[in-house]
Amino acid sequence: MSLFQPITTHTAYIPGANNLGIVLTDDGGAIAIDTGLDRDTGRLVRRALDEAQRQLRAIISTHHHADHIGGNEYLVRNLPNVAVYAARLEAPLIEHPLLEPIYLSLGATPPSALRTKWLMAKGVPVQHIIDGDAIEIAGTTLEIVALPGHSIGQIGVAVDGVCFAADGFFGPEVISKHGIPYAHDVAAQLASLDRLAMRKERFFLPGHGALTPQSELDAAIRINRLAIERAMHAVRDALSEPGDTLTVARRVQRTLGLTITGLPQYAIFVAAVAAHLSHLESTGAATLIMTDEGAVWRGGS
Ligand SMILES: [Zn+2]
Repeated sequence: MSLFQPITTHTAYIPGANNLGIVLTDDGGAIAIDTGLDRDTGRLVRRALDEAQRQLRAIISTHHHADHIGGNEYLVRNLPNVAVYAARLEAPLIEHPLLEPIYLSLGATPPSALRTKWLMAKGVPVQHIIDGDAIEIAGTTLEIVALPGHSIGQIGVAVDGVCFAADGFFGPEVISKHGIPYAHDVAAQLASLDRLAMRKERFFLPGHGALTPQSELDAAIRINRLAIERAMHAVRDALSEPGDTLTVARRVQRTLGLTITGLPQYAIFVAAVAAHLSHLESTGAATLIMTDEGAVWRGGS
């Protein structure tokens, strides 16, 4: 069986823990939309393309998270003339992946536990900055869908009846495993869900989860929205007493009954709680004040 799962005439994907999107260009080439966690997923893309006798023309990295850009370096190093495309605010983090564990470490040089492949890929130069709402690669026009929120400048790609939505939404089966859908900016994340809900493509491919036909999109988006709201309520409830960010995170973890065993998962969880705290502050539901005990969040204003 082919490694590619066809979606429409010009689109396909390689299913997995990280779905890898493929756009088939009219010139016999292909564009990869994200490359997965590491060298192995890069190799998988290469094998699938060899099998289909297609040459990789470009990689579009939807956002900088290590599980989406981990195969970039392998592909760029091993295949000729692969151009990398990314949104303006994502590009520096794709070129310098150490920045991800740095921001998860309060800006400090990260501890070794946060320098694993789960949080730190190998960097590649980004040749093309995506600013507008469309790009053309190898004669194929791709629509760019702004999906910020999960990360600072995440994009989706729409072409030939398919919206490659990256982590703009998660499959319902994935949501049930995560306490909080990771967010950088909760308001932007919710607005991006609204933007996705308006789209008319026949299929939507999340970075994690099953290929979603248009008929199932509303339900999937509703589940994502509920998970974000549940997290928001848990963070607000955790402010019934003042507490610093880590204290709030501990209370939220208890409320949601989350078992977090690894340091990378913990760092990601704390960052998501911090995003919810900032969001609550912007709505007037939380304030950050300086005390003898350090910076402390309080509920209300
Ligand atoms: Zn992500």
